[in-house]
Amino acid sequence: MKLLDQPTLLSTGVYLQIPIRITLLDEAIIRSNEPEEVLTFKYKDMGNRFIIPWRKIKGKLRRLVLEKQRGLAIEPQCALKDDLCMKCPTCFLFGGTGETSSANAQYNILSRIYGETFISEGEVGDITPYTANAINEKHQDTLSRDKTGKPTGSGALLSILTVPKETVFRGVVTLKDPTPVMVSILTDNINRLSRIGARSVEWGRVRTEIEGYYLSDREALSIYLTLSNVTQPALTGLPTEQTIPPVDNAYGTLNEQVKGLINSLAGGS
Ligand SMILES: [Zn+2]
Repeated sequence: MKLLDQPTLLSTGVYLQIPIRITLLDEAIIRSNEPEEVLTFKYKDMGNRFIIPWRKIKGKLRRLVLEKQRGLAIEPQCALKDDLCMKCPTCFLFGGTGETSSANAQYNILSRIYGETFISEGEVGDITPYTANAINEKHQDTLSRDKTGKPTGSGALLSILTVPKETVFRGVVTLKDPTPVMVSILTDNINRLSRIGARSVEWGRVRTEIEGYYLSDREALSIYLTLSNVTQPALTGLPTEQTIPPVDNAYGTLNEQVKGLINSLAGGS
């Protein structure tokens, strides 16, 4: 199999899978009293693991890709909060909907980068979550307050869990319909992923490493299966017969290609 020469609007069924390892360089603290912030998960066959939901990794990665793009002065007005330009390399790679753009785009872009839940290599050990009163930093008490500082309820309970430093998280990032320039942009930014942050998590510094590549007509790799000791296909390097351009050039090339595709999508006007 080869990488595609040109980006495509419709899927051609080529997948580049990139397993990555994220190692915590500092101890991290998970604070959570929100049901959607599931950060440990009990697997039936692998026991209790720390997990990082893919949307957190994706959000961080998208931010990095966009910041670098801005540094190259490509669509610098494109912004993550409801102001996507819908015509830049970042929007093309990570997707967006017409409604979330100030451009009033009449089309959606599906994400070409997706991934799975990142799972810790080891089980959550003898660390037990405990519940503590959330301290309101400004008022030094445990009451939640509205904007004016008026107490809105009783003391908030917060569960706190520490994740030991050197904990290794593993997961697979998949790039759909990959071209050499898309690979260049994605891998450069994966390698620059040095912090993971989220609202109710204090993650410190991380080290991110690409374990290898697997180019296929299907999504064959899964870290869940790897950690469950199911034999997975052997990883390879990137195809050597195709040149992966330097990242700065890659942004420029993809920007031109995306403009052409969007133009055809918007009816050639
Ligand atoms: Zn954009």
